[in-house]
Amino acid sequence: MSKRPPRQRAEPAPREQKPPRPRRDPSALLLPESLEARLDAGHPWVYRDHIPARFSARGGDFVAVECGRFHGWAIWDEESPIALRVFSRKQRPDAAWVKARVDEAWALRKRLLPPQTDAFRLLFGEGDQLPGIVVDVYAGFAVVVSYASALGRVVAWVAEALAEHPEIRGVCERVTRRKERTSSLRLLGGEPPPEVALIEEYGLRYEVDFEAGQKTGLFLDHRENRHYLRQLASGKRVLNLFSYTGAFSVSCVAGGASHVTSVDIAAPAIEAAGRNVAHNALPAELHEGVAADVFEFLESAKARGRKWDLVIADPPSFASSRAELFGALRAYKKLHTAALSVLEPGGLYAGASCTSQVSPDAFRQTLAEGAARAQRRLTVVHEVAHAPDHPYAAGHLEGRYLKFVLCRALPFA
Ligand code: SAH
Repeated sequence: MSKRPPRQRAEPAPREQKPPRPRRDPSALLLPESLEARLDAGHPWVYRDHIPARFSARGGDFVAVECGRFHGWAIWDEESPIALRVFSRKQRPDAAWVKARVDEAWALRKRLLPPQTDAFRLLFGEGDQLPGIVVDVYAGFAVVVSYASALGRVVAWVAEALAEHPEIRGVCERVTRRKERTSSLRLLGGEPPPEVALIEEYGLRYEVDFEAGQKTGLFLDHRENRHYLRQLASGKRVLNLFSYTGAFSVSCVAGGASHVTSVDIAAPAIEAAGRNVAHNALPAELHEGVAADVFEFLESAKARGRKWDLVIADPPSFASSRAELFGALRAYKKLHTAALSVLEPGGLYAGASCTSQVSPDAFRQTLAEGAARAQRRLTVVHEVAHAPDHPYAAGHLEGRYLKFVLCRALPFA
C-alpha cells in the first residue's frame, strides 16, 4: 500500500487586485456588476437605484448599457421605478427591428392558437422582447397597452408593423389615466374598432367592450383554463366568483353544467355575462347572474345552506407592490375558506391568482391554510399558469403572474 505524501500547505497567494474588466463599448453606461448575472439571463429591468448618480439622458432614448459580459440597448425612462428596459443585445432597435419582433411573436401564436379562436395576446411585453408593451388582438382589431410614456416611440413602431399586417383591420392604444381611473382609446392606424366586438374562443362567442371593459377587454390569460373546466362541468352546479363578463360561466354552461351562478360586484359585467350566454344560444335559465360583493354573497349562501359542485374564484390582483404581499396572502386565505364552505364535499375548487408578487408556492400555501380553516382536505389535481400566448422570458419570473390551481376538497376524515 502506498502511503500518500503528507499534504503540503500552500503558501497563501498574495492578494491580487482584480484587473478592471476590459470595456467592450467605452461609450456605454456601465451598470453595477451585481446585475450582471440577471441581465445576462434575460431579466430586462434595471431599477433607478442601480443607475450611476451622474447619468443623464433624454426620456425615451435608447442607451447602450454594459455590465460585465452583458451589453445591450435599453430605453431610458425618467418617470417609473424601472429606469431602463433592455430591448436588444444586438443593435440599437429601429422600426425594422421592432417589426421583426412582431413577426416573431405572430409566428408563435400561429403555431399555438387553438381552432375557432380569434382573440389572443400577440405581444406579451418582456416575453416577446418588447418590455412594457402588450398587444391583444380581438377579431382583427389590435389593442396596444404601454406601461410607460417613455415607450412612445416603440409603440409607434409596433403600431406601424401591425397596421401593415394583412390580418389586422385596425390598431388602437388603450390609454389609462390611473389617477382618474378612466381609460380611452386612441386610434393608431386602420379602421376604428366597433364599440363592442364579438370574438370567438374555442368556438364560443364573447363580447368585448374595447372602451369600458377591463384590461384590453377580456382576460385572455385564462383561455385554456376555461376550456379545461368546460370538460369537467357536465352535470355540475357551478359557482363562478369574480366572474367579470362570465367567460368561465359560458364555458361551463357549454360544457353541460346543470346550472351556473356568476357573481361580480360590477353590474355591467353581470349584464354582459347574461348576453354572452345568449350569444352562444345557450338556455338562459341555466345561468344566474348576481351583482354582489363576493364575500357578502358567500356569507349569505353559507347561511342558507347553498352548495355547488365546482367553485371558481379568480379575484382581481390583491397587491400592487411587495409591501402589500402580506395583506394579499391573508385575503386569499379568507377567500378560500369562504369559497370552500359552499362547496359540496368532494367537489372541485378552482382557485386563481393574478397577483405577480404571490409566487406559486405561496399561493398553494394560502390554499392549504384556507382549507384547514374550512376543515377541508385539499388535494391539488391540476396546476397551470397562463395560456401559451403569454410567454415569459425564462429569466424574468415577474412575467409568470397567473396561478390556476384545481383542487378536490374532502371533509376531514
Ligand atoms: N374571471 C374573470 C376575470 C376576473 S377579473 C374572467 O375570466 O373573465 C376580477 C373581477 O372581480 C372584476 O370583474 C371585478 O369587477 C370583480 N370584483 C372585484 N372585487 C370584487 C368583490 N369584492 N366582489 C365581487 N366582484 C369583485
